Amino acid sequence: MTYRREETVWIPESDLDGMSVDTLAVRAGQIRTDQLEHSDAIFPTSSFVYGSAAQAAARFGGEEPGNIYSRFTNPTVQAFEQRIAAMEGGERAVATASGMAAILSTCMALLKSGDHVVCSRGVFGTTNVLFQKYLARFGVETTFVSLTDMEAWRAAVRPDTRMLFLETPSNPLCEVADLAQLSALAKAQGALLVVDNCFCTPVLQRPLEHGADIVIHSATKYLDGQGRCVGGVVVGPRALMDEVYGFIRSAGPTMSPFNAWVFLKGLETLPIRMRAHCDNALELAQWLQQQNRVETVYYAGLERHPQHALAKRQQNGFGGVVSFRLRGGREEAWRFIDATRMISITANLGDVKTTITHPATTTHGRLSPEDKARAGITENLIRLSVGIEAIDDLKTDLGRGFAALGG
Ligand SMILES: *Cc1c(COP(=O)(O)O)cnc(C)c1O
Repeated sequence: MTYRREETVWIPESDLDGMSVDTLAVRAGQIRTDQLEHSDAIFPTSSFVYGSAAQAAARFGGEEPGNIYSRFTNPTVQAFEQRIAAMEGGERAVATASGMAAILSTCMALLKSGDHVVCSRGVFGTTNVLFQKYLARFGVETTFVSLTDMEAWRAAVRPDTRMLFLETPSNPLCEVADLAQLSALAKAQGALLVVDNCFCTPVLQRPLEHGADIVIHSATKYLDGQGRCVGGVVVGPRALMDEVYGFIRSAGPTMSPFNAWVFLKGLETLPIRMRAHCDNALELAQWLQQQNRVETVYYAGLERHPQHALAKRQQNGFGGVVSFRLRGGREEAWRFIDATRMISITANLGDVKTTITHPATTTHGRLSPEDKARAGITENLIRLSVGIEAIDDLKTDLGRGFAALGG
């Protein structure tokens, strides 16, 4: 690594060629100012000044690279973009104000009126609203299909299909989609395969390596991991990302430098956090399976999970989200949840703190009874986003839930 004292420098990306995601998480996208600070600097400024009128003109004209205004570029935001792009193995990343802004910006930049989208049915609730309510108003039609039903994906694709959009593993039932097969389908149609990689992060899954065109994140979840900031990012080939960047520069859903700095710090510990989430989640899933009051456990790390072999091939770990059905209905599920004392009752996920959710009345409460039934969101279903607390303390707290149901 090299740096010069007299100016802000980027540590050359070529030094990082071939390095593992663990190293990229702490080393990619590093900048240093003339103060030679070791931790990344925050640049909380809306605009930048020029040495002369001629330089201002050159910057605005694009002949000279450099910052102009923080809706366009900001060094801290660029550092975050470079780090996550390196980790996902993409050419360029574009940071956004939230995960939803990342999805919206991708669609606004790459779709037009008359285009058709095929989307997996189990996507994040607000993603569903975005496609069904808002994009539909602008003449983009969306067909929803089961994530794991390849025949349904094939049947839904039409000559005007421009995008296949999905999350894998799904929320909350941890179904896993075959990215290579979906990529082949998208390519045959000339459509883009867009993967929301929020649940796995680049530590556990790099969709671009499996043929996806674009990866999207809600940085709010695991990338931060400590519940501090809302943000998002889109990663992919330069030509596509230049379009997404053009949209956010014009429309304004940019990430703030402060949030970018928090996410940079979050990325540094992401690999060790993800391993801790995975270890705890697998052990809890196995433990839950042995409980009398538990009907079924949903976790791709369990051998009896229908896509266990695929998840093993496609992912480097099974993630931190575990769902299970209790014997009983809403009353039993709520009594179980209310009996826990340490675990947080919240719909958020991806935090170092374990969270517990009743999907049927919160995250998936807006679905019609038929859609709930189709998505497997029953009243006795509970979702855990397993944190990094000691496993025995988690079992003790969940044990309070089982005790409240009579063991
Ligand atoms: C939370 C979430 C989003 C939306 O992200 P925000 O940062 O809340 O806008 C999108 N996709 C998935 C899978 C999520 O969990």
